[in-house]
Amino acid sequence: MLKNFLPNKHVKTIFDIKPEQLKEQGIKGIITDLDNTLVAWDVVDATPEVIEWFKRMEDQGISIMIISNNKMERVKIFSEPLGTPYVFSAKKPLRRAFKRAANQMGFKKDEIVVIGDQLLTDVLGGNLAGFYTILVVPIVQTDAKITKINRTIERRILNHFRKKGKITWED
Ligand SMILES: [Mg+2]
Repeated sequence: MLKNFLPNKHVKTIFDIKPEQLKEQGIKGIITDLDNTLVAWDVVDATPEVIEWFKRMEDQGISIMIISNNKMERVKIFSEPLGTPYVFSAKKPLRRAFKRAANQMGFKKDEIVVIGDQLLTDVLGGNLAGFYTILVVPIVQTDAKITKINRTIERRILNHFRKKGKITWED
């Protein structure tokens, strides 16, 4: 059961995820989390680096969708200037929003990667929905209250994986 919390891949930041690599892997679409994955949870707009990363993906023909558990206003204000489709109040780890995104993009499961900074929402949800999952290190260590509880559980799961030798990275 715990294996559903194990990401397929772990990187420091989204910028370690290269469009050429994804393309080689046969990936056509990215479903990404917003808070602490693309920018810090309290940063309103995309940074120039994020805008550039989105552009490089799109230049390679890779579509991006933002799926966030956060409220409409937050997700809309961030996503619309990028011209990126989004789902707010996504209720991750429930599969529904992931499936909706995949349908909307029109790609198969193995043509989509899910990117996020949380095991309990992004990785679990992405794995349950059958996608390739990439965990990133949270951009900042501070979090909303609910996330703090998740982080405690997350740390336990990560320690378990570490003991079993399933992950090699450090916190
Ligand atoms: Mg997040």
